[in-house]
Amino acid sequence: MTAINKQHIATLKLAMESELARLLHEVKDEMDPALRPSFADVSGEVTDSGDESIAESVVDLDNAMIGLHLQKVNDLYAALDRIQAGVYGICGDCGESVSVERLTAYPTAKRCINCQTVREKRA
Ligand SMILES: [Zn+2]
Repeated sequence: MTAINKQHIATLKLAMESELARLLHEVKDEMDPALRPSFADVSGEVTDSGDESIAESVVDLDNAMIGLHLQKVNDLYAALDRIQAGVYGICGDCGESVSVERLTAYPTAKRCINCQTVREKRA
């Protein structure tokens, strides 16, 4: 396992910053009422209750998507904060270094693979 160095962090920071900018733009569009299809638009002329529930699930899906994007935005902010604080790449549970391989695949990882596995097993 290789511990992360400054060069890796700088590369990941750039990648996360551009991902954050892209996501913020996306979320802004998604939350803009003028750009979002309203329930009426989605359900259209249809009054059939079956179609209405389809329109409802489309709106729910939109909300789920926004929630997912906001979660990612939060994760990215938290990871950039950890870089700022000089604790990026350190497992929040055991304090060991998170491997470069893991951080490259998953730059917002808060925990090393061992602690993450333990948590997932417990959940
Ligand atoms: Zn750990």
